[in-house]
Amino acid sequence: MAYTYDDQNIFAKILRGEIPNNTVYDSEHALAFRDIEPQAPTHVLVIPKGPYISFDHFAAEATDAEIIGYVRAISEVCKAEGVTLDAGEGFRMIANAGAHGVQEVPHLHVHILGGRPMGRMVA
Ligand code: AMP
Repeated sequence: MAYTYDDQNIFAKILRGEIPNNTVYDSEHALAFRDIEPQAPTHVLVIPKGPYISFDHFAAEATDAEIIGYVRAISEVCKAEGVTLDAGEGFRMIANAGAHGVQEVPHLHVHILGGRPMGRMVA
């Protein structure tokens, strides 16, 4: 089955500047902004700028430059938020995919959560 990206999803609209957002990082290949319903003191979403639904879609079809740019963006956000292990107390990264992953917005996004101890993952 092919991946079919819906360009009317809310993060596509954010990328086109049609919906405001609280940007914390912007580069050629990635955008990061604060989650509108934060679940922790730090709750940032990092998205690639290309039209990718999920991590599997991204890994299958993104260019090497997009993948490197995205991974570096995640790292830069963690550093800027002060949660990396050289300067902070750590963080959790989550990327939900599809129905079983309970993904609400069908544009790849990594949640960066930090600023407090997380609960144990129980699914
Ligand atoms: P997921 O369930 O992994 O797809 O997560 C989607 C996330 O997007 C949720 O944590 C929402 O709170 C967040 N969200 C939805 N709309 C917006 C928005 N306009 N700006 C920032 N975050 C949003």
